[in-house]
Amino acid sequence: MTEYELIIIGGGPAGLTAGLYAARANMKAVLLEQKDVGGEILNTDLIEDYPGFASITGADLSQKMADHALKFGLKIETYKPVKEIRSEGDRKIVVLEDGTELSAYAVIVTVGGEPTKLGVPGEQQFHGRGVSYCAVCDGAFFKGADLAVIGGGDSAFQEGLFLTRFAKKLYVVHRRNEFRAQAILQDRLLHMEKVEAITPAVVKEIGGNGDVKWIEVERDGKTERVDVEGVFVFIGFRPVGRHLFKEHVEHDKNGYLITDQYMRTSIPGVYAAGDTRAQLAKQITTAVGDATTAVLHAERYIEELKDIERAFPEEPKEIAAETASRADLVVFAPGDLIIREGEAGDKFYMVIRGEAEATQRGPDGAQVVVGRFGPGDYFGEIGLLSDAPRIATVRARTPLEVMALDRETFGRLMANSQATEAEVRRVAAARTREASSH
Ligand code: NAP
Repeated sequence: MTEYELIIIGGGPAGLTAGLYAARANMKAVLLEQKDVGGEILNTDLIEDYPGFASITGADLSQKMADHALKFGLKIETYKPVKEIRSEGDRKIVVLEDGTELSAYAVIVTVGGEPTKLGVPGEQQFHGRGVSYCAVCDGAFFKGADLAVIGGGDSAFQEGLFLTRFAKKLYVVHRRNEFRAQAILQDRLLHMEKVEAITPAVVKEIGGNGDVKWIEVERDGKTERVDVEGVFVFIGFRPVGRHLFKEHVEHDKNGYLITDQYMRTSIPGVYAAGDTRAQLAKQITTAVGDATTAVLHAERYIEELKDIERAFPEEPKEIAAETASRADLVVFAPGDLIIREGEAGDKFYMVIRGEAEATQRGPDGAQVVVGRFGPGDYFGEIGLLSDAPRIATVRARTPLEVMALDRETFGRLMANSQATEAEVRRVAAARTREASSH
């Protein structure tokens, strides 16, 4: 089984961004894509809301993103559909459709989704013979034809605009009188002479003989037949990320993966970004931002996991992974206070980067240095083990990154391995003795 630190699943803007950052951080990473890289933007003609590019085609932007990630050494594997992701100890096993298994400490899921279907008679039968979910892919087959786009969102309008290059007449069929597409897109499309809105109208059937010839819509309680040769359906999107998991992963009622602000899903070591994640806006800008957060956190998660495993080698691997995923990453500037002597303790800390210094008040009131902590060292255990006040003050000596465990997470770490608990108690006893000698 090939082992990686990080596996990115999906090659759209979110995946390529995660890949770029992973490659620049020198992580052992691979990006798996079931088709060609680009994702949803390959189905988009013009992108006009990605900062820095007033207007760029989806194909060009995705190529630029892929080239950028490749330049920094990202390993991209196309035509590698993923069947399943499962957890084994501290690793995620990614199973491909062809049965190959890969493993990694962390996985970022950026698989987007697939178009929602109308679910009316004729839709399936005429798919590929007049029914399409991608104007950029299929529009050119319909030069001089009468066409219909179904839907009232950004996709319907953006794709509708593209179709006006080929259509003799374009109907915009939408179930309400109000459209949810951005105003600028509405203005552009609905003011074109060849465009006619049919609202509020519900598509009941798609028909033809061999190829699409008409759609039947219901408007004001009456059924009408509209002659068209192509029907382009843009009525939303079904996220597919959650179907990759055998174990439970938290998702909302529409199937979008739920994450926290670091893009962590409910499974330790699994992150989600882009259109498959529950969020307000499905935009390229948000996808790349979220993917950046995900990969930066994943990098820290992997470091934390390795530190926990180094410090507590007897801990069950899945508990180490759970602990690392629950840890809060906290950053301190030199001199910042982390723990104050005499206060109650509610957190356990482990240093990821930088150095911290422990001091105690001497009999004359001056601070005496009693310890230094570097990467992999921990402190704060005495307060949690014995519910005693902090026996020392700890401050950052350098820029410092620590992972902080709350009482419950620390308790689980102790409860799952006698060896871990014995080791932490031994360190705590030694420190308490040392402190009393001061
Ligand atoms: P969307 O915003 O969810 O719009 C779906 C449209 O389909 C809505 O108008 C909805 O009607 C209609 N609809 C839903 N179910 C239907 C059904 N069963 N029968 C008939 N009509 C139905 O989806 P989208 O347009 O694919 O956009 C998805 C996301 O991508 C959005 O966040 C959008 O902003 C973003 N996007 C952005 C751009 C851009 O240029 N920035 C381009 C494309 C997409 P109701 O309005 O009545 O609910």
